[in-house]
Amino acid sequence: MNILTSPGAMRAWAREQVVLGNKTALVPTMGFFHEGHLSLMRMAAQHADTVVVSLFVNPIQFGPNEDLDRYPRNFTKDCELAAGEGVEVLFAPETPDMYPADFQTTVSVEHLSRSLCGADRPGHFNGVTTVVSKLFNIVQPDFSVFGQKDFQQLAIIRRMVQDLDIGVEILAHPIVRESDGLAMSSRNAYLDENQRKSALSLSKGIALARSLFTEGERETAVLGKKVKEHILSYSGTAVDYISFIDCSSLEPVDRAGQETLLALAVTIDGRVRLIDNGLLTGDE
Ligand code: AMP
Repeated sequence: MNILTSPGAMRAWAREQVVLGNKTALVPTMGFFHEGHLSLMRMAAQHADTVVVSLFVNPIQFGPNEDLDRYPRNFTKDCELAAGEGVEVLFAPETPDMYPADFQTTVSVEHLSRSLCGADRPGHFNGVTTVVSKLFNIVQPDFSVFGQKDFQQLAIIRRMVQDLDIGVEILAHPIVRESDGLAMSSRNAYLDENQRKSALSLSKGIALARSLFTEGERETAVLGKKVKEHILSYSGTAVDYISFIDCSSLEPVDRAGQETLLALAVTIDGRVRLIDNGLLTGDE
């Protein structure tokens, strides 16, 4: 596996792939790989001849009081894991390579970036769309794979690609979970034993909403109240949002249907913010 750190070297490699007639898939990540990341890499390999994984903890998508400094990192292990998946290039730039001192251009997807996680984390999605645009420009991939765990991010990237006529096909990967239902996340590394138990409140909350939906409940106000009660019954949980939204428009809905997605953000002990989501039908 090639490990490239300079955008110039990455771009030169990508140009060569075009000359060779190879299709490239990019998997953007912030590292500290778990099975979710590795599954995205496998999906990328199914669609393209060569897979590039970017590993960059993007400072501009973190708010001033967020976890940029303590975000988990293990570069050596990440290299081993990506190499084990047959990844051709790990692109791991340093911050000054991506954001030189005079950097001043950002990409913003207006409406979709405001709700849900965007309301709690102002500027977060502008950071994401800016870095993903830069990665697309550097790597020039044919495909790029994103996880449905970050469903709002996925919707925003799709919108950006469509609005800006970016020639990258976006592929979505279903949420990869631990055996007890917890959605895998690099941030799960923050959880101690008790917090790990409380983290189950998200997937269990979704399971509760699904069973109520199956029993016939359609009022999202009623579903939301019950999900909230359930989540708050776990120790140290605070609800950032419980939203029932249309899975395409991300607009809130009053009555649940086949297309309704339950999206959750929960903070545990005021320290670890986790997200999860699922269609009420249980489909992926
Ligand atoms: P991150 O390193 O957390 O920025 O994630 C990189 C990519 O992996 C994003 O597209 C995420 O949506 C995706 N991802 C992270 N965790 C999971 C998971 N449990 N299941 C599916 N995709 C995931």
